[in-house]
Amino acid sequence: MTEMEEPVQGTLLGPRPKVHAGKCQNCGYALELYEMDVKKSMKVMRCERCGVLHFYKKDIMGKWRLQRAAKSELVR
Ligand SMILES: [Zn+2]
Repeated sequence: MTEMEEPVQGTLLGPRPKVHAGKCQNCGYALELYEMDVKKSMKVMRCERCGVLHFYKKDIMGKWRLQRAAKSELVR
């Protein structure tokens, strides 16, 4: 039998890959990674300019899909 599934782990080689995150839905500025939840296959990207949070969820194809974008008043 051939292995169909790629190992989830083992991709931590070398420096962190620069992820092309996408653009802000509000102002079109570049997004930065704000929070990542590996267990839920979710991540939150934050606009560097206007602070809008973009909630992404990984689909079955392994691609990040934008669920919603919302402005957050919370600042860490
Ligand atoms: Zn923005």
